Amino acid sequence: VSGPLDPAAVRALTRTLVAIPSVSPDVESETRCAETLAAHLPAECDAGMWSAPDGRPVVWALARGASPRTTILLGHYDTVGVDDLEQAGVPRALAFDLDGYGAWLAERRRDGRAFPADVDADLEAERQAPGTWCFGRGALDMKAGLAAGLAALEALVRGPRAGHVLFVATPDEEHASAGMLTAVEELTRLRDARGLDYVGAINLDYADAPCAHHGVLGKMAVGCLVHGITGHAAAPDDGRDAAYLAALAASCRFESDAFVARLTRLRDLKPGYDAQTAAAAVVEWSVVSERGDPDAVLVAIRDAIRARWREARGGGEAPPVRLWAEAGDGAAAASGRPAPFGRARAAALERVRARASREAGAGAILFLMPPYYPPLRARPSAVAGAAAAVLARAEIAVRGPFPYISDASYLAWHGASPETIARHLPGFGAEYALPHRASAELDLDVVNLGPWGRAAHGVYERVHAPWAFGTLPGLIADVVAASWEPSPRR
Ligand SMILES: [Zn+2]
Repeated sequence: VSGPLDPAAVRALTRTLVAIPSVSPDVESETRCAETLAAHLPAECDAGMWSAPDGRPVVWALARGASPRTTILLGHYDTVGVDDLEQAGVPRALAFDLDGYGAWLAERRRDGRAFPADVDADLEAERQAPGTWCFGRGALDMKAGLAAGLAALEALVRGPRAGHVLFVATPDEEHASAGMLTAVEELTRLRDARGLDYVGAINLDYADAPCAHHGVLGKMAVGCLVHGITGHAAAPDDGRDAAYLAALAASCRFESDAFVARLTRLRDLKPGYDAQTAAAAVVEWSVVSERGDPDAVLVAIRDAIRARWREARGGGEAPPVRLWAEAGDGAAAASGRPAPFGRARAAALERVRARASREAGAGAILFLMPPYYPPLRARPSAVAGAAAAVLARAEIAVRGPFPYISDASYLAWHGASPETIARHLPGFGAEYALPHRASAELDLDVVNLGPWGRAAHGVYERVHAPWAFGTLPGLIADVVAASWEPSPRR
């Protein structure tokens, strides 16, 4: 692909997008960001918006070409919040100011303020070569990716096209993927209505180095409801109070090649203060795995908690740890209607709590909570072949599966069967549902090729500007063009 891809224009669009605080879930600001994106689509595209259940728009734009071979460019335009920045003393407005935030940090550094070593090094690089690093919420994750994708789209629109390119930008990726769950169904409809032949997708999300990723790791949220025996806070502890048992569970380390579990939450369920030990507590983990198999993950976590509890009792008998799937109220209990994400999570916990309330003694029940992101296994495909060829010429590595949570997980269904998820996730098919049939029907391969930088979701989120605004748009356009060349698909 030739033609001018002006880095200053990509940077300016990134600045415009970052300035809209599209922290999900927020219908008003996310819609504003969607409208801004839509205003920057090339005029030559067929474009429209699909609506998530609460009205937040998924922006799409289709540039037609000579053959129906269609390559998807996927991104999300929402971001995580900025409470962490405000707690760190950064004025809220600066968090959304691509130029101002970096300048503010540089000024504090000149005044002698200390920064973490990596931040200090990058601020020094920025001092020596201004324009190297751009700071701000969403700069890396992933408004620079959207801007680069739009620049690539514009370049492709200006030249002859052997195939179609479909740009899709979703809301709510950082929350519950409501935009993507809508888009999956709409993508199959658009394909059928326009006679498209999807050859794969390029996800424009960030990486921690200038590289691509092939495939996506699966993510699941695991909950552990601990029910205890309450007692007076002044009485000797018999080791059966829920908060203590939950703390033990939370201290487990999972030695496994199959998955990584990170503790995300630990709390008791007491409504307020009293001089009583806790009757119930909850531990939550976020689990990243290649197979996305809840059976294997939950059994491993169960065994680790059992061992930890026995160890704490000097090897003696400990309260039972069971899976929701074994506890008696499996999938048959699921009825109701899909609910907003927070409500669906609360409903899953309520179902387990109701079951635990029937137990006489202390114990724990392990279960899945929303959300569930299936892994997307890398395989030979037109986009993978195109990315390998284009990036090899530029000496850029294509690495293993994308390690972070991503909407792109839902572009195929390589995860657990809906029946398996339903056995472990209370309310699956009722308050919480996934479009597994449409995902399986799409069955797309995914390469992630986006901006790189550091501290996504963090106080010092920053994007490497020469790559995102200079190198990346051309690479994306080249990979799309190469993916249109007829080749064995899989
Ligand atoms: Zn992201």
